[in-house]
Amino acid sequence: MILKKLVVGPFASNCYLVGSESSKEGMIIDPGDEAEGILRNVKDLELDIKSIVLTHGHIDHIGALKEVKEATGAEVAIHTDEAESLQRQPLSTLFGLSYPTPLPPDRLLKDGDSMDIGNLHFSVLHTPGHSPGCICLLGEGVIFSGDTLFNYGIGRTDLPGGSYSQLMKSIHTRLMTLPDNTTVYPGHGPETTIGAERSGNPFLQT
Ligand SMILES: [Zn+2]
Ligand SMILES: [Zn+2]
Repeated sequence: MILKKLVVGPFASNCYLVGSESSKEGMIIDPGDEAEGILRNVKDLELDIKSIVLTHGHIDHIGALKEVKEATGAEVAIHTDEAESLQRQPLSTLFGLSYPTPLPPDRLLKDGDSMDIGNLHFSVLHTPGHSPGCICLLGEGVIFSGDTLFNYGIGRTDLPGGSYSQLMKSIHTRLMTLPDNTTVYPGHGPETTIGAERSGNPFLQT
């Protein structure tokens, strides 16, 4: 599997480029900002981007969506409960930032859906809490956890649509049930593993 992390924008969001070594088909997870840099890396890796997957609709994860979509022609996929966030810009206004208006999605995701990129297989986990339509993408021994779970941290729940009890339920029932050696690639900060978070994440200790 080809996997490259790019840290983009004022919120240091992680944008992931994922691709099949054999077919060079690829996906972009969370094009948060710096479209030019994302597209340059796509070109360097010689990826043919089939999908742009959004873990959720906050502006720090979708800021470069329009440019990246226009350049790649890839389908834009987001959870059905989050799609509305692509039609408006409450958080960019909130943070005093200006980004182009995002695009309507091409594909609405729900829990259990498959996301296949060449010979790579991922499945969609609906993990509400940080926002209503947050997803994680699980497959190939890794999980892209968006803003649900971080390295020794969890997503904030004080933004519109957030719920602390939902977030904890999502983490405990959907993520902590995964094998310890599952590598976690979060929406911000360094990677971790399910095992490391299970034993050391201060928000998950009882
Ligand atoms: Zn977020
Ligand atoms: Zn974020």
